Amino acid sequence: MQNIEDYNFKGKKAIIRVDFNVPLDGDFNITDDTRIRAALPTVKKIVKNGGSVILMSHLGRPKDGHEDKFSLKHILKHLSNSLNIDVQFANDCIGEQAIEKSKSLKPGDVLLLENLRFHKEETKGDEGFAKKLASLADVYVNDAFGTAHRAHASTTIIAKFFPNDKMFGYVIGNELKNIDNMLQKAEKPFTAIMGGAKVSSKIDIIKHLLPKVDNLIIGGGMTYTFIKAQGGKIGNSLVEDDKLEMSLEIMELAKKLGVKLYLAVDAVCADDFSNDANTYEGDVSKIKDNWMGLDIGSETIKQFIEVINNSKTILWNGPVGVFEMEKFEKGTKTIAFAIAEATKKGAFSLIGGGDSVAAINKYGLADKVSYVSTGGGALLEYMEGKELPGIKAIRAE
Ligand code: AMP
Repeated sequence: MQNIEDYNFKGKKAIIRVDFNVPLDGDFNITDDTRIRAALPTVKKIVKNGGSVILMSHLGRPKDGHEDKFSLKHILKHLSNSLNIDVQFANDCIGEQAIEKSKSLKPGDVLLLENLRFHKEETKGDEGFAKKLASLADVYVNDAFGTAHRAHASTTIIAKFFPNDKMFGYVIGNELKNIDNMLQKAEKPFTAIMGGAKVSSKIDIIKHLLPKVDNLIIGGGMTYTFIKAQGGKIGNSLVEDDKLEMSLEIMELAKKLGVKLYLAVDAVCADDFSNDANTYEGDVSKIKDNWMGLDIGSETIKQFIEVINNSKTILWNGPVGVFEMEKFEKGTKTIAFAIAEATKKGAFSLIGGGDSVAAINKYGLADKVSYVSTGGGALLEYMEGKELPGIKAIRAE
């Protein structure tokens, strides 16, 4: 594995796997260009160093071949403006045009290839397809953390064609540095706040984190599986009945490891999953029949904030309520501001997982926390202790 800082790109063509899977509105305007901005430092570094760049990405989930609404041509102008370079475009990621345009690249030029997923071979991890992509360039750079947990042609298989010329870009490099630092050298007290809808999707990560953290705060829909498991009444709240036993095991394990586990004591309850619902605030384990808990209550907010305030390392994954609806956003919003406040006082805070990132952005706090991860599923798998295929492929000899 090589290092982007030391590698000499002069006169070389670098093919970079980026994550340009950006949200577009009905008129194909980019509504959030975070992912494009994230990729710029890697591209600029190579161009400045005298190399040329071939960018490849997926966009959306095309079903069968070329679909105009998923074409990367929609982002070409925005990309050119962001880089201040007239970026070229190849209307297929392999084939004659891609070969010709790659061949004629001069130092400083940038070429964007059409959506990789217009070819089924991409997600299948087809070696022949990966070889065609590889043949366009001299160097391979993986800078798409969000897809690093997939063994796709462009994220993993392609690396074998560059045994001595493969590396991470700055996006992945920073992700690994921040996550590794947090998991290996966290200053204590270390608090993990786990929220979101389901326990099932968070069990492995909770188990992996338990030996490392001092405090585990559990919020969101997961709460009610834990409450029911202890004999509480949860009305119509979200619950996974097949995980009741598991939640008791997690509580037991936390106790054994000396981790303080914080669960909600009160909840904002609603008679409908809607912003127009009637609500009341009350005991989380005595929820009225037919009502459901959709946010943490005031007493819980107070307790959680005190823990956050006293933490030196904070990991936040998943909202503690249905923050998309104004009536149930107070818990998540207050937690977000408390994390920003703790960061100001010197704590290291890492926000990861789609919906807590969305929450941090919604409240304009992205630059008030230490690090916002770009990888949803990839981050979770990495924090579960799994080896991601895209990471392994670069590190392998
Ligand atoms: P996840 O993708 O598992 O992190 O789940 C995020 C989703 O969980 C968000 O869309 C929230 O609206 C939802 N959520 C959070 N708290 C609750 C709750 N108490 N009941 C139902 N859904 C919730």
